[in-house]
Amino acid sequence: MTASYDVIIIGGRPAGATLAARLARQGARTLLLERAQFPSLPAASSPIIYAPVMHLLDEIGADENEYARGTPRLRRVIGDNSQFKATIPIPLADGRNYAYAIDRARFDAALFENARRQGADVRDGFNVTDLVWDGERVVGVVGQAGKDGVPETLRAEIVVGAEGRFSLVARKTGAATFDEHTANPTSLYYAYWRGVRPYDEDGAAAVAYEGGYGYGFLVMDSADGTTAVTMEGQADLFTPGEEGAEAFYLRLLRSNPKLSARLEGAERITPVQGMKRIGNLYRQPGGAGWALVGDAYHQHDPLDGQGIFNAVYSAKVLAWAYGRFRRGAVSWEQALHEYDEAVRVKTYGMYRRTLNAVQENLYSERQMPGWALSGLRWVMEDPQMHELMGKMFTRQLPPEMISLLTPAVALNAVLRGPLRDLRKRLAGIAS
Ligand SMILES: Cc1cc2nc3c(=O)[nH]c(=O)nc-3n(C[C@H](O)[C@H](O)[C@H](O)COP(=O)(O)OP(=O)(O)OC[C@H]3O[C@@H](n4cnc5c(N)ncnc54)[C@H](O)[C@@H]3O)c2cc1C
Repeated sequence: MTASYDVIIIGGRPAGATLAARLARQGARTLLLERAQFPSLPAASSPIIYAPVMHLLDEIGADENEYARGTPRLRRVIGDNSQFKATIPIPLADGRNYAYAIDRARFDAALFENARRQGADVRDGFNVTDLVWDGERVVGVVGQAGKDGVPETLRAEIVVGAEGRFSLVARKTGAATFDEHTANPTSLYYAYWRGVRPYDEDGAAAVAYEGGYGYGFLVMDSADGTTAVTMEGQADLFTPGEEGAEAFYLRLLRSNPKLSARLEGAERITPVQGMKRIGNLYRQPGGAGWALVGDAYHQHDPLDGQGIFNAVYSAKVLAWAYGRFRRGAVSWEQALHEYDEAVRVKTYGMYRRTLNAVQENLYSERQMPGWALSGLRWVMEDPQMHELMGKMFTRQLPPEMISLLTPAVALNAVLRGPLRDLRKRLAGIAS
């Protein structure tokens, strides 16, 4: 046995690094272990983050100038398709009215470094291969630095799995799965490009373009003049077979004329990456001597861009619950129960909303008569509807509330829509 800690965290990206920072600030002796060497990209992610993520990072001293260095502020999300064009301004939330399509290598490295700055012991390039047990209780980990390192055993009162979707701790403990949703599986491909033409003159943006039935595109201006070009679709449609992922990705991009025009002359600077059949589930939050956090605990389709929020929020709640256990206020079992309940209260509504959005946007064939298409356009172009959506993405209104408010706002939008059309037509005649 080489060392002993209060908490060992496996996985050093958003969930693990922010948990380590919080625990170290509480005075817990914390060790953060990460297989990759920083800076490096995670297995798959082409992410947008909104103000609530940044607010949670403010709480632990992470520096926005560091994690978002060279990254343009996105002040709008645009839906641009044949039926409507909606420009949703990012509303003010927690003092910020912008989002970022962050460079994950830079973002993750900054969070890992922040964990060190806050007092956690950190080791990247360290691969955990097994758990150490004392009877039914997890009491440590076994792992090694690099491929040829000498195996080490490290002990802790609590071991936390923050190792993402394919969590070793979840596998080794046989963590139970809850609320798993497999009905509408999706897959996602993306790459980063340089030299993509701007959407318009009004600055950086995240733009959703339509694809064919069952898939769509998201194009986001990202760090150092790069652009993330992502496509998400039904898992059974996104099976490139002999064609290969790269040719498949390029063929689909070329099928949208607006997107094709923006990519003319641009250079793809990363390979095409992605994830197949992205999971949707919750897991048991923990057990004797262990816990799960981030994607290891809750997996959520990326369509709404909420995964990093879930990761850093679950880390905050786990740190709070651990603090109560450490002070002797509750047992570990009770701390886990409180952790699970608090995270579900915050995340479950959004989870359901995203699953519904996947069903509606990627699994429903929209064969609408002309009058319904006009109605859809009036609703999607309505400023009040944009305000609702902006507040949902920035977690200012829970999705349950949005569902309650939507029918009234949609009705108003349908009443206001023809007037807006008329005004546009008159303005056109006048000019
Ligand atoms: C294609 C795609 C697009 C996405 N887009 C968005 C988006 O726009 N916005 C958003 O908010 N979220 C998005 N997400 C979700 C987001 O990427 C995740 O929710 C987030 O990365 C979860 O963070 P995490 O720290 O829990 O896990 P991860 O980021 O997966 O990190 C886990 C870490 O654990 C390490 N690890 C694993 N096993 C071991 C081991 N045995 N020993 C040591 N280390 C280990 C891994 O190397 C990895 O670095 C997207 C996800 C995908 C797949």
